[in-house]
Amino acid sequence: MVCQECNGLGKVIDQDGRADICTGCYGLGYVRGIYRPGPLSSSKLKLKHALIGTMGGLGIFYAVFLYTLIRYSLGPMITLAVLLAGHLVAITFLVLYIMYRAMHDN
Ligand SMILES: [Zn+2]
Repeated sequence: MVCQECNGLGKVIDQDGRADICTGCYGLGYVRGIYRPGPLSSSKLKLKHALIGTMGGLGIFYAVFLYTLIRYSLGPMITLAVLLAGHLVAITFLVLYIMYRAMHDN
């Protein structure tokens, strides 16, 4: 079957605009059997790490939040405000990280 990564060309254009031998089919243009995607590129891997980091941060946040909720019995408005603030911080962190990576990955 035709290689999905290079559409049968055997070559791919990398980030620098140069033609490289396709890593999916090693320049053959076709692959045997079921197509398997190659390993994640480094930028995707870093993004994955950032996502895992954010999830971990949110996990800690939820733990502290639940503990505080049980310990001090906060009102519904404060509970909502804390939840919103926590998610905003997590999203802001992720967006800033992606922007930082986008600026430094060139
Ligand atoms: Zn290929």
